[in-house]
Amino acid sequence: MTIVTRFAPSPTGLLHVGNLRTALHNWLLAKKHGGRFLLRIDDTDSERSEETFVEAIREDLAWLGIEPDGEERQSDRFKLYDQAFDKLHEAGRVYPCYETAQELELKRKIQLGRGLPPIYDRAALELTDEDRASKAAVGEEPHWRFKLDHDAPIAWDDGIRGPVKFDPAQLSDPVIRRGDGSWLYMLPSAVDDIEMGITDVLRGEDHVSNTAAQVQMFEALGAEPPRFAHEALLVGKEGKLSKRLGSLSARALREQGLEPEALLSLLARLGTSLPVEAIVEREVLIEGFDLSTFGRAPAKFDEAELDRLNAQIVHRLPFAQVAGRVPDGMDEAGWEAIRPNLTRVDEAGEWWAVVTGTVVPPAFNEQTRFYMSQAANALKAIEWDENPWHVLTSTLKETTGRKGKELFLPLRQALTGREHGPDMGALLPLIGRETALERLEAAAA
Ligand code: GLU
Repeated sequence: MTIVTRFAPSPTGLLHVGNLRTALHNWLLAKKHGGRFLLRIDDTDSERSEETFVEAIREDLAWLGIEPDGEERQSDRFKLYDQAFDKLHEAGRVYPCYETAQELELKRKIQLGRGLPPIYDRAALELTDEDRASKAAVGEEPHWRFKLDHDAPIAWDDGIRGPVKFDPAQLSDPVIRRGDGSWLYMLPSAVDDIEMGITDVLRGEDHVSNTAAQVQMFEALGAEPPRFAHEALLVGKEGKLSKRLGSLSARALREQGLEPEALLSLLARLGTSLPVEAIVEREVLIEGFDLSTFGRAPAKFDEAELDRLNAQIVHRLPFAQVAGRVPDGMDEAGWEAIRPNLTRVDEAGEWWAVVTGTVVPPAFNEQTRFYMSQAANALKAIEWDENPWHVLTSTLKETTGRKGKELFLPLRQALTGREHGPDMGALLPLIGRETALERLEAAAA
């Protein structure tokens, strides 16, 4: 049996690292087994769903190279949900309810006050036909709940959590349809998973109790439930991630100039027993993907780790791959000289300005200014060959007796205007003899 997975975002906002992780894992699971990965847009909530978010979802996945093998939208599939609903209705597995949100809230409070779990009390099942008729007569539209079968425990072998068991009597019958006929997530999702032949549902552990109810929906619709796996949620370094999700949207990270491979490397293995390392080859991520490596503890998302991975990836990026993103005039030698100093590709501009722009001469004392005039003279005299930095510094070492920091640092400061930066051996040829001489002379003045 080929594996079919899906990523099912609601287009009500931008995708964040948590969503991307789910998308990536589903994609990896499918690819590892030569299967298919589908994108399902969960847009049953027409008020909150927006087309711009649908486009953003596609863009974000494309940026990461997570290419769906097909795309479906729930808003095109209402007919199927109606049919399933009718089937469940005939089988007595859905029932109409009339409580308002306030009434339900009050019931919850009373239960909690008595130390009871806030489970829906099924009061609506006690209504008679007459009760319902009189409600209909005054225009009250019911919402609908799926009636859980309390007779048998719900159980599945979770791909990450192992054997999971629920007593259905400890769950509320889930609301599946609103009074205005619109759908909540639960039933359409089960219908689609059946109809699209989804073999594996891999999602966050916040869905575990939904799964319990959905297992019964699959069965009530005459289908075998798919395999389920629930992964531990992502948390921030200081706890909850939810507050910072805005700045951790795929779009924000992309606009910050992050390499998609850095994000993939982190998200693929965070929360697993595999080492998180900078990996650019997708095959390696696919090969290593294995649910049995997933832990139960929340996975800690740390932006510093993302930067570290990004830097490692940037340090390996060949010029051809960044040519369109580097400052005008920067060539391969320039890129290779500067690359080791970058965390992000767009920082190249800063360093390129050190090569081609103006450098403010440092305020040296008299002694160092004299050293700079010696350096300027030495530079004039040396052969400008393959490695002028080496020739210059060896000459100065001999003539001035300086060594170590005393020898190198003032030169770097004069030539770049900074105390740290790329390897001078690579930088000096890029700066060029004439500019280098001007900078040394300016520092000597
Ligand atoms: N649209 C649901 C969500 O975003 C899908 C969950 C799922 O079944 O994967 O939570």
